[in-house]
Amino acid sequence: MGLPRTERTWGFSVLFQQVEAGFGQAGGAAVLTLDRASAIFPSDPIAISRLRAKLRAVRHRLEDLDLVVDLGVRIGSKEWWRGAVTCFALCATAWSMHPALQPLPGQIAPALAPAQWDEARALSITPLALGADSGRRMGATDMVEMLADTPDRPRIELTAALGRGDGFVRSLERAGVSDADAKATGDLVAQAVSLGDIEAGTRMDLVLGRRATKHDPRPLTSLKFRAKLELALAVERPETGGALALRRIPIAVDDTPLRIRGTVGDSLYRAARAAGAPADAVQTYLRALGGYLSIGRDVTSDDKFDLVIAQRRAETGEVEIGDLLYAGLEKAKKKIQLLKWTIAGRTEWFEASGVGERHGSFQKPVAGHLTSSFGMRFHPLLGYTRLHKGVDYGAPTGTPIVAVADGRVTFAGWHGGHGNFVALQHGGALGSGYGHMSRIAVRPGQMVRQGQLIGYVGSTGLSTGPHLHFEVYKNGAAVNPATVSFITQPQLAGAELQKFKGQLARYLTVKVGAQPAFAKHEPAKADKDRAETAAKDEARAAPKRG
Ligand SMILES: [Zn+2]
Repeated sequence: MGLPRTERTWGFSVLFQQVEAGFGQAGGAAVLTLDRASAIFPSDPIAISRLRAKLRAVRHRLEDLDLVVDLGVRIGSKEWWRGAVTCFALCATAWSMHPALQPLPGQIAPALAPAQWDEARALSITPLALGADSGRRMGATDMVEMLADTPDRPRIELTAALGRGDGFVRSLERAGVSDADAKATGDLVAQAVSLGDIEAGTRMDLVLGRRATKHDPRPLTSLKFRAKLELALAVERPETGGALALRRIPIAVDDTPLRIRGTVGDSLYRAARAAGAPADAVQTYLRALGGYLSIGRDVTSDDKFDLVIAQRRAETGEVEIGDLLYAGLEKAKKKIQLLKWTIAGRTEWFEASGVGERHGSFQKPVAGHLTSSFGMRFHPLLGYTRLHKGVDYGAPTGTPIVAVADGRVTFAGWHGGHGNFVALQHGGALGSGYGHMSRIAVRPGQMVRQGQLIGYVGSTGLSTGPHLHFEVYKNGAAVNPATVSFITQPQLAGAELQKFKGQLARYLTVKVGAQPAFAKHEPAKADKDRAETAAKDEARAAPKRG
């Protein structure tokens, strides 16, 4: 109030500038709005404040005006009608704006004249099923001479594939080789490789020669195929004719295993796969490691994995990837080295020290429920409290009783209060005893395996009903069976251990990206390139944890 007009105008501009400064992005549009505002609204401060009050009142009324009401409640009220009208108005507006969709007129190609149609048909290729009679034809003239017989090709080259469950000789016969030739070929090939060992899908290159008449099968001129990775075979008939002869074509094969190393990074599985390990080898690797640590918890991103996988590489480029042979994991303070080793017909993972996998968790001696546990108890028949030296399993008479672990029968017979009793001696100064049997199924001195039947549940000796009284001894003294585990773990020793360590050392000297022996004569530069690629691969396989 009372300020000169120029200063008020200045005040507006200050307001504008503040707004601009406040939001920082004010552009030309804001300037336009301000110009309009100053042109429309009166500049008298009293009139402005009145106008503001009016606007405020209108705004309040508009705020109370609820146009979007729930049409499901208070049907018929003023608000409901207002909402219904709003809804109708919105729908009508939307409807009024729908586009008018009408088909667009387009040009229709005129139908072909009969001459054009014939021309188009002559140029087309009609399906065989419809006669394939398109194209131009010429009527036969006197110049045309009918052939009495079509000539036969002098030789046919073809490939045949050996199907799964298919016979070698049969597949040759099917390819058109005469029975006699197919059989002779089968006999020749069987000298080099067992016919059943030829892999399904093997492709055979055949050359069939000229035949006497069209009704005879063609004689075999030559057959070539890859019988094994390291051997190709050829069965050929000499140029001069005569009997078929077998020719062996040996192919150099390198057995150097595939070694894959890298850093774990985000995921051991992904890193190993990225480094080129086949999926099943990585799964075997994770399973093998799983016996020694928790993959999820104990493996950190800086750990290094090391896999050696059986591999056979042929001179001709084919590669056969075999099983995982070595599984290693290098942690900051610990190194896990597992080597697959077969001993006594059982293949399993052995640690570098020659210790094998743990076997045989506790085998329950009988399919029954625990009725009495180890400890002091009141004896139902003797009538006083004494130590119960084992555990009782309630089971019906005749239920089979099995050995809890591999061992030797040290006692089998009547044993006082135990009735019919069997005692076994296991490794590690452990023994087990089985009492009250109705029948014994082993003899003293016999070797038994874990899970082998040794007798049947009964109620002989001091017993109130059919049950198995089961005892465990450690160095001859009865102990609580619940505290003992019958886990066996093979340990390699002597010459076997030396062989094992030698094999482990050989695997660990295999270089990552090692080249097959037959590639040794290649220029040194190629080797260097490959080494660089391998190093890059190793680096790529070790992504940093993000
Ligand atoms: Zn008992």
